[in-house]
Amino acid sequence: MIVKEIIEPKSIVVVGGSNDTRKPGGKVLENILRGGFDGELFVVNPKESSVQGVKAFPSCGDISPVELAIFAIPAGMIPEAMELLASRGTRGFIVLSAGFSEMGEEGKKLEAKIAEIARSAGGTLIGPNCIGVITQKYKGVFAGPIPEYDPMGCDFVSASGATAVFILEEAIVRGIKFSEIFSVGNSAQIGIEEVLEYWDETYQEGKSSNVKLIYAEQIVNPQKFLKHTLSLKAKGCRIAGIKAGRTKAGQRAVSSHTGAMAGEDTAVDLLFRKAGIIRCEGRLDLVNVAGILLGKKPNGKRVAVVTHAGGPGVMLTDTLESEGIDVPRIEGKDAEELLSHLNYGSSVSNPIDFLATGTAEQLDLILNYADNKFDNIDSIAVIFGTPGLFDVTNVYEVLFSKQRSSRKPIFAILPSIVQAKDAIERYKSLGGNYFNDEVAFGKALAKVLKTELRETGETKSFEDIDVAKIRNIIQQSRDGFLPAMGTIAILESTGIPFVATKLVKANEELIPAIKEIGLPVVMKVVGPVHKTEVGGVEVGIASLSEAEAKFAELMKIERAEGVQIQPVANGVELFFGVKYEKDFGHIIVFGLGGIFVELLKDVQMCLAPITTAEAMEMVEGIRSKAILEGFRGKPSVDKVSVCNILLRISNLVQIAPEIVEMDINPAFGNGGKILAVDARIKIQTTK
Ligand code: ADP
Ligand code: MG
Repeated sequence: MIVKEIIEPKSIVVVGGSNDTRKPGGKVLENILRGGFDGELFVVNPKESSVQGVKAFPSCGDISPVELAIFAIPAGMIPEAMELLASRGTRGFIVLSAGFSEMGEEGKKLEAKIAEIARSAGGTLIGPNCIGVITQKYKGVFAGPIPEYDPMGCDFVSASGATAVFILEEAIVRGIKFSEIFSVGNSAQIGIEEVLEYWDETYQEGKSSNVKLIYAEQIVNPQKFLKHTLSLKAKGCRIAGIKAGRTKAGQRAVSSHTGAMAGEDTAVDLLFRKAGIIRCEGRLDLVNVAGILLGKKPNGKRVAVVTHAGGPGVMLTDTLESEGIDVPRIEGKDAEELLSHLNYGSSVSNPIDFLATGTAEQLDLILNYADNKFDNIDSIAVIFGTPGLFDVTNVYEVLFSKQRSSRKPIFAILPSIVQAKDAIERYKSLGGNYFNDEVAFGKALAKVLKTELRETGETKSFEDIDVAKIRNIIQQSRDGFLPAMGTIAILESTGIPFVATKLVKANEELIPAIKEIGLPVVMKVVGPVHKTEVGGVEVGIASLSEAEAKFAELMKIERAEGVQIQPVANGVELFFGVKYEKDFGHIIVFGLGGIFVELLKDVQMCLAPITTAEAMEMVEGIRSKAILEGFRGKPSVDKVSVCNILLRISNLVQIAPEIVEMDINPAFGNGGKILAVDARIKIQTTK
């Protein structure tokens, strides 16, 4: 929990405050002083009586009680100082110093110790090994440019102090404002999840910023992360984030395809998607997305491109269209009326090009039309630079005032960062933010639109799932792969049809089984995990004598326990899978069977429980989707039926969370019929 002393301290002590502003203890003090902190401020520094004009005390025991302590002293000295302060009522602790868990075992112990001191004081520890915190009340950071505070600017939490600083560098240049910034460092007590929890619990509409930015490397408590991101989004927040680093899952040796594949992507990636966070690739991408999120929220995906320079307008249009965002044609009476007010040679059909001679008045008019009259437009991107012949300050002033007054979002792409430097500064001083590259902007906008306008759908439960039977089988099974017939029973109880299968263990059972199934049949060995690899699958056995010979052959395979007899199924081979990821839960996987999954890794994944919309997204998301639609005379597969299987699997893992791996590979899809022919389920009762 983040106590109020971290957010609004009435008094602060900088332990290790210094006159040398090239040191963290000097810089943080300077930033607090420059930031206009209006509470009581103390410095503890045994060597000085006054530091940067602030009275300095030799020890933490010498100052009157303070609410917040910021430490910039060697790690080993911190526990004692913290304990002393805690005993005198301090509840906020920010440890800038490094030398903790990042340094190995000793450091880990030290870190656990300071976290425990904060915890038992009922307080909050930020860090250690962080650059600090910025709130409205104080600028408690030792590094980086300090952005202008705006309660409606971006709230930002970062696992890396240096990354946060570099993001601020770019953001400030672009006019992006910030409200609260937390650098969580080693996250001894407060990680990204806890900061999100705090923003969620203190959110007040109209008073709190609704743009949240995240730089994460690791999510320790995925369920908490998801809970608060979803809750913030439900309150109207817009969240973007970078996730760097991968989970350890990929390194783990796993026995099934799903396991290997699920490890390659990462559970954190899937968590971000589940939470509806706009995923950014890097700093510049995050800054572009942040600039978009600070604007108004578009109601749809249709964009008007307004420019006085052809090229960038074309590039932006290309980018948007290729990302699946509409740049619709603008025509009709209103379009003609607008055209009549523009210079000869202009075009309004979208892109709206009002030529190099375009004026501020014309821009004003265009924006009026685009905002109020063109119904097929949801947002407007204006690209306006200058070849240096005239001042564009008045153009940017119009742009800014329209951004404020319009109903639809208007985005400013201002390429002339040298020639229009002063005009851009003026625009920023009014409160505007801008983009400097139309292609990067277009990609960022596409990402925002696709994430925010994405349908979420509902989870679905199925009345016909035989929960009791599934529980019964699981409870009677030992950890590891379930026996073949148990696997089939679980799938059938879940409502996932499995091809008629007879298990034959002795010669005399063979002919009756084949007669029951009917020729031709498929025969496969039972026992080995991967059957094809050991020559254990034969499709299309057409005679009884052939079957008898095959049976003898299959039973000779190492670990053979019997042979399955199945009819020959046909259609498109589909793959369904499940992989359990500790703390994150079950990952559901979908793709086409055979080489599509194994060689091309063309799969889609989603964290369970999945919704109807997420199931459809998975089906639509595979690259080889066209094959489902019927390719070269092959049967097509009904996508809704595929979704239903995915939704049933999602139900299954909730009923039987002991399932740690499951592969249905393949199931044959033919129209609305989906029929599994091979499956394995691995369970683990203790996780
Ligand atoms: P494994 O994956 O252990 O090698 P499978 O049971 O998946 O064994 O069989 C391998 C391949 O044989 C399948 O991918 C599929 O192409 C084909 N096959 C298996 N069972 C059938 C069946 N009943 N009808 C048609 N083809 C089948
Ligand atoms: Mg198989």
